[in-house]
Amino acid sequence: MNETLSRSSLIAVVLDLNPLAWGFRAAQDAQRTSKSESFVKALDATLTFISSYLLMTHGNKVVVVGAHPLGAEILHPSDTYSGNTASMVNRQIEARVNELCRGVLLDETIADSRTSPASRFNNALSKALCCINRMRSEKDLPARLMVMKCGGDFLSHQYLPLINCAYAAEHLKVSIDTVVLEAETDVPVLQQMSDVTGGVYSRISEPAILLQTLLTYHLPDDDARKMLSKVPATPVDSRAVCFKTRAVTDIGYVCSVCLSVYKMLTPICVTCKSVLKLPGMPPSRKRKREK
Ligand SMILES: [Zn+2]
Repeated sequence: MNETLSRSSLIAVVLDLNPLAWGFRAAQDAQRTSKSESFVKALDATLTFISSYLLMTHGNKVVVVGAHPLGAEILHPSDTYSGNTASMVNRQIEARVNELCRGVLLDETIADSRTSPASRFNNALSKALCCINRMRSEKDLPARLMVMKCGGDFLSHQYLPLINCAYAAEHLKVSIDTVVLEAETDVPVLQQMSDVTGGVYSRISEPAILLQTLLTYHLPDDDARKMLSKVPATPVDSRAVCFKTRAVTDIGYVCSVCLSVYKMLTPICVTCKSVLKLPGMPPSRKRKREK
């Protein structure tokens, strides 16, 4: 048991740096509490979480990836500092976030209506999984991933790559924890990712309880979680997204060749270009004989 408890591990944290989402959140908070420090509070909570993780066991490692509407950046490790001293890691992340907020995130392309306002979580998750894979090739470590998202948009344009990332993570035995800072709606794709990989999903309505939630539910590793009480579970919204219109679909049509899901019947599959048989067409004679 001591061996299990003292084994070092690796966590990759994907942090949402979307200025539009945080701005919207701050405006909502300001209406309710006359304070609008959402991003600063969330960054503080994340840095405290990272420090706690690094201090928990000697040799613990952390990868931090920032996701924003123009792409994803690895904030730690970098060429400047790649060690695991908590204070140095925090300083580096803070400096990189400041640099990004002043530079690329104020870029005019974010205001461009053609650009999706959602952060590129698919890019960030792919980078995080690549980092985990590379670090594991040097030393075999148990690894986890944690995604923190601000706002409740459905990420339907990223549905496919995100679910593919979840399956890749499951294959690598990496569980994905997801934290959504949103008062009212859940994000189905993040719920599904946690469900597929055996991670924990939590939606936080009050920024004040973010740190408490991170330390209580997301800090313990997979072994320690077995001994702790279960996280209050929310029912997983397992609806798929239409591959053509990107709308969330209750009942749809599935391509029999590549399993793409469509809300409306499509004669030619958009993904694999197979010609699909329309309902009501008489079955072939050969199939009748088989029955
Ligand atoms: Zn198909």
